[in-house]
Amino acid sequence: MRSPQDELLELEQRSLRRELRWVGSEQDREILLDGRQVLNFASNDYLGLASHPEIVAAMKSAVDEWGAGSGASRLITGSMSPHRNLENTIALLKDCEAALSFSTGYAAAVATVSGLMRKGDTVILDKLAHASLIDGARLSGATVRVFPHNGLAKLERLLDSSVRESGRVLIITESVFSMDGDVALLDEIISLKKKYGALLLVDEAHGLGVYGERGLGLIEHLGCGDDVDIHMGTLGKAAGVAGGYIASSQSIIDLVVNKGRAFIYSTAPPPAQAVAATKALEILTSGEGRERTEKLWSNIEKLTSMLSVVRKLTPSSAIIPWMVGEVDAAVELSNRLLESGFFVPAIRYPTVPRGTARLRITVTANHTEADLSRLAEVLIGSEDR
Ligand SMILES: *Cc1c(COP(=O)(O)O)cnc(C)c1O
Repeated sequence: MRSPQDELLELEQRSLRRELRWVGSEQDREILLDGRQVLNFASNDYLGLASHPEIVAAMKSAVDEWGAGSGASRLITGSMSPHRNLENTIALLKDCEAALSFSTGYAAAVATVSGLMRKGDTVILDKLAHASLIDGARLSGATVRVFPHNGLAKLERLLDSSVRESGRVLIITESVFSMDGDVALLDEIISLKKKYGALLLVDEAHGLGVYGERGLGLIEHLGCGDDVDIHMGTLGKAAGVAGGYIASSQSIIDLVVNKGRAFIYSTAPPPAQAVAATKALEILTSGEGRERTEKLWSNIEKLTSMLSVVRKLTPSSAIIPWMVGEVDAAVELSNRLLESGFFVPAIRYPTVPRGTARLRITVTANHTEADLSRLAEVLIGSEDR
C-alpha cells in the first residue's frame, strides 16, 4: 500500500508539493508573509475591500446583534434575516427572480451543479472551468463533456449530440478565467445555447468588481443577463468577504434548496458574514466602488504598458499570467521575486495544464504606481538572465 509519505515525496520530486504560507497581517497591498514584509500581487481582493473600514464595522456590529454562529443548516435554524437580506440584494442586483447564498463559492458550484443535474443529463464545461465546477459535475452523475477553451465548434458538436438524449443539458463557463485572465465568448455561447435549448451557468468569480457599469461582471457589461440561466459567483474575491451565490429563476433556486447536498447538509455561514457581504455589495456597486474599479483598470494598464518592453500582454482582467512553461523555472522565478519583496505565486499542474506553469500576477486598486514600477523592473530584469 502506498504511504502518505511516499506520495508526498513523489510530489516533491516533481516540484508539485504545495505548502501553506502564513500571513501575519490583514489583507492589503502589503502583507507580512512568513514573517517578511512583501508587496502582495497574489490576492483576489481586486478592489481592496477586504480591509474596508465600513465593511469591517458592519461585520462587527452584526456580531453584536446576531451572535457568532447560525446554529444549524439553512433548512433548520440557519436561515436568518441577514441571509435573506443578502439573497434579496443579489437577486435585485442581478435582476433575477431569486438568489441563494452559500458558505463559499466552492460550495455554491458543487451544490448547484450536483443538485440540478443527474444521471442521464449532460454537463458541458469549458476546459479551463474551475475545479469546483468540475467537482459538481462529477458528483452529479451526469455525463461530463469538455470543450477546448472557448472552442465553439466543439461546443456545438457536443450540444448537437447531447440534446438528442432526453436529459437536461447544462453548459458551464467562467466569465473571466481564473488562471489566464481572459474572457469567455459569451455572446457566441449564448447563441449556441439558444439554438440547442440548453441551460447556461456562468461563474463570475473574477468578473465581479472588474466589469460592468455597476461592477456586477461581464454579463452586465455585455447586457446578456436574461440569456444566462444561472449566475454564479463568490463574495470572497472582489467583494472582499466570503461566501458564494447563485441568482436564477425561483424554480431553479428551489430545486437547489431541495437537492443541493452541499447546501442542505452544512451549517449556514455566520450571519455576520452575510451582513458584511451585503455591505460589500452595496459599496462595490456605489460611486466609490466604481472609482475603485477605474483605479484597478488604470493600474492594470500601467503595469502591462511598463512590461511591454519585454512582452506584449493584452490584459482583459486583473489577472495577468506571466507564462514560464516548466514548473521548476516558474517556482524559481517566484522565489526570486519573493527575495526581492514581491509575492507573485507560481501556478502549476494540476491547477493549470502541464507545461504551462506561470506566475499569476494580480493587480488591485490599492497598488501604487511605485509598487507597479518596482515589480515591472524586477520582471523585466528576469527576462535578461
Ligand atoms: C475562487 C473560485 C471559486 C470558489 O469560490 P470560493 O468562494 O473561493 O470558494 C469558484 N469559481 C471560480 C472561477 C473561482 O476562481
